[in-house]
Amino acid sequence: MPAQARRRRTFAVISHPDAGKSTLTEALALYAEVIDEAGAVHGKSGRRGVTSDWMEMERKRGISITSAVLQFAYRDCVVNLLDTPGHGDFSEDTYRVLAAVDAAVMLLDAAKGLEPQTLKLFDVCRARGIPVLTFVNKWDRPGREALELLDEVEQTIGLRPMPLTWPVGIAGELRGLVECATGEFTRFTRTAGGATRAEAQLVPEAEVAAAEPEFWPAAQDELALLREIGAEYDEKDFLAGTATPVLFGAALTGVGVRRLLDALVDLAPAPEPRDDADGNPRPLEAPLSGLVFKVQAGMDRAHRDRMAFVRICSGRFERGMVLTHAATGRPFATKYAQAVFGQQRTTVEEAFPGDIVGLVNAGALRPGDTLYAADPVHFPAIPSFAPEHFAVVRAADTGAFKQFRRGIEQLDSEGVIQVLVSDLRGDQAPVLAAVGPLQFEVVTSRLESEFRAPVTLEPLGYTVTRRTDEAGAALLAGQSEVEVLTRRADGALLAVFSNKWRMETIRRKFDDLVLEPLPAGVTR
Ligand code: GDP
Repeated sequence: MPAQARRRRTFAVISHPDAGKSTLTEALALYAEVIDEAGAVHGKSGRRGVTSDWMEMERKRGISITSAVLQFAYRDCVVNLLDTPGHGDFSEDTYRVLAAVDAAVMLLDAAKGLEPQTLKLFDVCRARGIPVLTFVNKWDRPGREALELLDEVEQTIGLRPMPLTWPVGIAGELRGLVECATGEFTRFTRTAGGATRAEAQLVPEAEVAAAEPEFWPAAQDELALLREIGAEYDEKDFLAGTATPVLFGAALTGVGVRRLLDALVDLAPAPEPRDDADGNPRPLEAPLSGLVFKVQAGMDRAHRDRMAFVRICSGRFERGMVLTHAATGRPFATKYAQAVFGQQRTTVEEAFPGDIVGLVNAGALRPGDTLYAADPVHFPAIPSFAPEHFAVVRAADTGAFKQFRRGIEQLDSEGVIQVLVSDLRGDQAPVLAAVGPLQFEVVTSRLESEFRAPVTLEPLGYTVTRRTDEAGAALLAGQSEVEVLTRRADGALLAVFSNKWRMETIRRKFDDLVLEPLPAGVTR
C-alpha cells in the first residue's frame, strides 16, 4: 500500500482565466496517451465536448464551473489532475479542490506573467504549504522575455525560480528547449493546432549552433547567467514552498508538455500522512480515510444523482466497503464508486492515497466531510469564505414551493452558495450569500432547469460579513444597516453589514461585541 501511495501524483493547475488551463489539461492527457486528439476533454471551440457541457451556462460563458478529475498512468506513476474553476467567483470551489491536492502547477501566459487570479490562488497554495511548479505557456507567440518573467515571479511572490528548461528563440519564435542541467537541446516540430502530439527531436549542439546563429548564443548567455546566480533545482526549497521549478512551453502546440509530465512524476511529492483535526498525522497505511472536497449534482442529466468527490488520504479503498461518515456517525455504503473522466464514468474497484473516488447517492455528504473505515478520524473542516454579495431568493411560482425548498437545500449542501436564514425572514425567503455574483446565476439557472422552480432574487445591500455569537446577535438586533443570520450549513451566526464604516461605528458602541473576520475569498 505505501508503494501504491508513492506512485501517486495528485495536483491541480492554478491560473488566471485564458492562460490555457483547459488546453494544458488536454495536452497532458494527450501526451499521457489517455486521449488521441485534443478537444476530447473540454470541447472548446466547437470540438467534441465531454466534460462540462452539462450546463448550458458554462458553454455560453466559456468558463468551467464544475471541476473534473482526470486520472491517467504516466511512466510508473498514476497521475490525478483535479480541474479548478477558472473564474474567481467560484473561488470557494477552487479552495476546496486545493485542499485535496499535493502539488500545483502555476500556469502563466508568457505575454502576461503573473495575473491577479494567479496571485490569489498562489496565496492559497502558500497558506496550505502546497509546492508549486511553474509552466510558462504560449511561448509559441510573442510575449515577454524569459528572464523578465522569472524576475517577476521572484519579486512579486517571493518564490525563487529554478528553471528546468530554457527556451531557445524569443517568444513567438521558439526553436526548442534546452535542458538546463545537461545542456541537451530538443527541437519541436509544430503540428496543426496541437490536435496530435508534436514531434520532439534531440539535436546535437553543433547542429543547433549552426542552425540558430542568433538564438543559440543568446540562450547560452542566459544559461550562464542562471548558473552564476545559482538557479539550479533544489528539492528542499521546492518542497518547502520557497522555490519553484520553471518550465517553458506551449500547451496548444504540445511544446514542453511531456517535460512537464516528467517533472510532475520526478519532482512533485507523493501523498503524505494528512493531519487530523487534532494535528495528528494519519499514517498512509492506516485504515481507509478520505476527505470529501466537492459535491455535485446534475452531472448526468439522465441519472439525477449526486456525486461526492473523495480524496483518499489513507488505506486501500475497495468498492463495496462500508465507511463511516464522521459528521453523523452514520454508515455510508460505497457500492457505486466511480472514476470520472470528463463525462465518462467507470466503476472504481480500488483506490489508494492520492486517488479521487466519486461516490454516487451521496445525499448526506458535504464538502469538508471525513469518511473512514475502522479507526475513526476527523480531518479539519475546509473553511467557508466571507460572502460579499447577498440576495433574498423567493419562488416565482408559489405552487412550486416544494421544489424550491428541495432545490435550495440541495444547492446549499453542495456548497454552491451559502444559505442564510432567520426567524424574521422565514423559509419562504432565505438569503443567498455569495463570494462572487456569478454564483447567483448558477443558482437561478439550476433551480429553474433541475428543480422546475423559477425564482426571483432581491439584492440586499450588505457587503461585509463577520462571525458573531448569541450575545452579539442580541446587541445588534436594534441596529440599522446590520442583520444577523444563521448559516444553514454549519449553524454559524453571521452578522452582515452594509459596509465597513457602518460596522466600525456599531462596533464602537458595544465593548463586548464579538465580530470575527472570516477567510476572504479570492475574487478581487
Ligand atoms: P483557460 O481559460 O485557462 O482554460 O484557457 P484555455 O485553455 O481555454 O485557453 C485560452 C485561449 O488561449 C484559447 O484560445 C487557447 O487556444 C489559447 N491557448 C492556450 N494555450 C496556448 C498556447 O500554448 N499557445 C497559444 N498560441 N495559444 C494558447
